[in-house]
Amino acid sequence: MEKIYQIAIDGPAGSGKSTIAKALAKELGIDYIDTGAMYRAFGYKIREKGIDMHDPAQLDALLCSTEIDFDRGKTLLDGSDVSSVIRTPEISMLASDCSAIAEVRKKLVALQQAMGESKSVVMDGRDIGTVVFPKAKYKFFLTASSEERAKRRFAELTAKGEKTTFEQVLEEMNQRDHNDTTRKVTPLRRADDALEVDTTKMSIEEVTEFIISKITEEN
Ligand code: C5P
Repeated sequence: MEKIYQIAIDGPAGSGKSTIAKALAKELGIDYIDTGAMYRAFGYKIREKGIDMHDPAQLDALLCSTEIDFDRGKTLLDGSDVSSVIRTPEISMLASDCSAIAEVRKKLVALQQAMGESKSVVMDGRDIGTVVFPKAKYKFFLTASSEERAKRRFAELTAKGEKTTFEQVLEEMNQRDHNDTTRKVTPLRRADDALEVDTTKMSIEEVTEFIISKITEEN
């Protein structure tokens, strides 16, 4: 296997990206970078500071004064751990909204490229195989039916004590899918050379094993 390589895992919300990417990183002994957490952290900061994300001057000032990083699985926003506060439905929508703005993507994509160019990484998101690392050695695009994805997200939220209903989660997920696939700047799409994996009827272990088998098959 090459010394430095990237594994790109893209797909819609609830397709299993982060769970699979984490398992792969552990199995292969390389770093995992959750790019969704970066958009979430920035969306969180927009809300905390009460800025209007559509005002270019306010947005630019915020982008210039924001640091997002990871440390042992934790998401750091300006040095503070925001890992759990960014996992709410409200922040999901704010992440989706701010991710449609070209300046936000420009800054976060540059950061992601810097994080993944000097070491091997598994990176998950919406545009890793198309924009962030178009030359990634391994590219996968995970999908699942919207009902199955909403079921997974509902279980995740209720386990954390969030008060919500399945219908509400499904509606928010459909809204986010719509935003992510129809936005003007780099909408969510499968890279032509990415392998699509429908995870609807697969367990986490099955998907991880399948992806590992594809990776080792190529070496
Ligand atoms: O993956 P996650 O649900 O945490 O991502 C939150 C939001 O961030 C997504 O709905 C999407 O709008 C945005 N995102 C993106 N590009 C990425 C990762 C996430 O636009 N690479």
